[in-house]
Amino acid sequence: MYRKILKTIKKYDTIVIARHIGVDPDALCSQLALRDVIRLNFPEKKVIAVGTGSQKFAHIGKLDKLEKVHDALLIVTDTPDKKRVDSVDFSQFSYVIKIDHHPFVESFGGIELIDDQASSACEVIMKFLVHTKLLLNPQISEWLYMGLVSDSNRFLFDSSTPELFALVSYFLQKYPFSLSQCYQKLYLRPLNEVRLEGYIALNMKVTDHGLGYVSITNDVILEYGVDSASAGNMINNFNFIKEVLVWVTMTEDVKNNQIRVSIRSRGPVINHVAEKYHGGGHKFASGARVPTMDEAMKIIDDLEKVLIDYQKEEMTNGN
Ligand code: AMP
Repeated sequence: MYRKILKTIKKYDTIVIARHIGVDPDALCSQLALRDVIRLNFPEKKVIAVGTGSQKFAHIGKLDKLEKVHDALLIVTDTPDKKRVDSVDFSQFSYVIKIDHHPFVESFGGIELIDDQASSACEVIMKFLVHTKLLLNPQISEWLYMGLVSDSNRFLFDSSTPELFALVSYFLQKYPFSLSQCYQKLYLRPLNEVRLEGYIALNMKVTDHGLGYVSITNDVILEYGVDSASAGNMINNFNFIKEVLVWVTMTEDVKNNQIRVSIRSRGPVINHVAEKYHGGGHKFASGARVPTMDEAMKIIDDLEKVLIDYQKEEMTNGN
């Protein structure tokens, strides 16, 4: 599979790299890293990384302007379904490669390199780079680490295997960069965001079955002076609360006239609930976009049922 991908990359003079809407560090870093790897190894090719940028991640790296292409290869990273690919029209491309770590949703019609056990799309790309022995540089190595460390929430999950640490170690040794600077780029945030975190902690409702949920309305977003994307991304900071097994933020996004629902779990699998509401994601980290807070509350009701079943099962198993 790795050889086949490399052969396909070699075949095309123009390559566009895309990823999912609602950019996050793994999506952004995987496309930037892959773009620069191809540019470094094949300087004669035209390679661009496209998608809607975000002010929050602008300092991580610059995306390219989307332009009309002819006989081009499309590589999509970190995205399992066509409807969530940002900015590109599939019909413009001669061939498509998908590189992803989400559970399979649909085929894009070309090569599909998917490892749904991987921590991140960046990890999948790192393995591809090790196998193909393509030349890298410290910036590429830093991007890949950044995406991986962000999606694994700093190695908190079971995807952090000995093999993953060996892979990271290989990149750090071969193409070193400053870890402290990398973490600053990822985690430095304005005081307003920390204050909003305080709001979430104070206002999170917790059910007897361990479901924590909070709505972040536009009034709250304005009061704290943050944007709705930053507010929605705070979900990852609420892991390891003893009384909470599944937690949800419901963030109003007036610009897109929708509610962004983000769901995380330390126990029950929750992606099927997100899928019921036309969302999706991983077993323990999923999301959906719904039109109203009332619709978002239906997700809360469904998750409560999932927790009740989960706890019954745990009792039966003697846990
Ligand atoms: P979020 O909570 O938005 O950070 O998303 C967590 C995970 O769920 C990510 O892997 C997303 O790709 C996925 N996800 C979020 N929203 C949607 C959606 N509307 N449709 C499909 N997958 C989603």
